[in-house]
Amino acid sequence: MSRKVRNSLSVILPLFIFLFSAISVFPSPSALSTSFSSAAPQTIPPDWCKALPRPEYKSFERVLPNDPWFEVYKVADGTFAIYEPHQAEEVISYLIVGHKQALLFDTGMGIANIHKVVTQLTSRPVVVLNSHTHNDHVGGNSLFTFIYGMDTDFTRQNAKGSRDDAQEELATGMICGDLPKGFDPKTYATKPWHVSLFVKNGFKINLGGGRVLEIISTPGHTPDAICLIDRENGLLFTGDTYYPGPIWLFRPETDLDAYVASVKRLAALAPQLKLVLGAHNVPVADPAILPRLVSAIESVRSGKVEAKPLDGGKALYTTDGISFLLRAGPAGLK
Ligand SMILES: [Zn+2]
Repeated sequence: MSRKVRNSLSVILPLFIFLFSAISVFPSPSALSTSFSSAAPQTIPPDWCKALPRPEYKSFERVLPNDPWFEVYKVADGTFAIYEPHQAEEVISYLIVGHKQALLFDTGMGIANIHKVVTQLTSRPVVVLNSHTHNDHVGGNSLFTFIYGMDTDFTRQNAKGSRDDAQEELATGMICGDLPKGFDPKTYATKPWHVSLFVKNGFKINLGGGRVLEIISTPGHTPDAICLIDRENGLLFTGDTYYPGPIWLFRPETDLDAYVASVKRLAALAPQLKLVLGAHNVPVADPAILPRLVSAIESVRSGKVEAKPLDGGKALYTTDGISFLLRAGPAGLK
């Protein structure tokens, strides 16, 4: 499941550009030999990959710089964004560290071992909680012993694991650079996990030293979507309810009425917040985005925003710098 707005051009166009530039630019002999001997289509970087690194990352402190798959950034005190820029989702998991324990909010793609990264960032025991249970947020769950789960049927179903959604993540144009050594694309699947404790809206997790995280149930993107608030530090982790990129609201498990109600609850919190931390592309946003998110989705649903039709019966709506990916046609707005 990609955050990119995919269409066939995005795969074919770079191939033409590459071939054209290889032929028309007078090449050095070494460029000629490397261009033509290794130009298998799958080695051409996809469009989205060429836009990386995203400029926003320059302002963050990078840690563990030698990891070949994950890029880790310290985005606030005791708060690390664990970013996966080599796969088109550009998913971001967060490690939130207290004095007594740490919480990993999402476990990423499961393509590389996030448990190894986490143990290099903290010596405290680590518990896992997912922003929701789409495959790109639960890929490493099976590597951890204690996992909170929202008390929903959607969560229970996804905890059984699956292969299809995982396999789609490796389709042509989805990988930028190399897959990790030892990773076998053929057997890639979301491994099942065991929920240690089912939790609900308002549940609090005390990390020690005054750092308390509270679950805010924000159904919409999925029935089990949550945000996590760290009131002491003014942080709101928003999962896929908000991130800077086209927000996916087209799948059958999405409920738009619930989504609007959820983002209204978040907008009411904006005055108490310092940072909004979403689950794709770029880790931090200004809390002022939250009331704008409410206006944007309401404008879209009232038919005031022009749709850009896309492949697969989807349409992209953009207003006030915020994009939503919905099912095409009036039914997609209901
Ligand atoms: Zn999702």
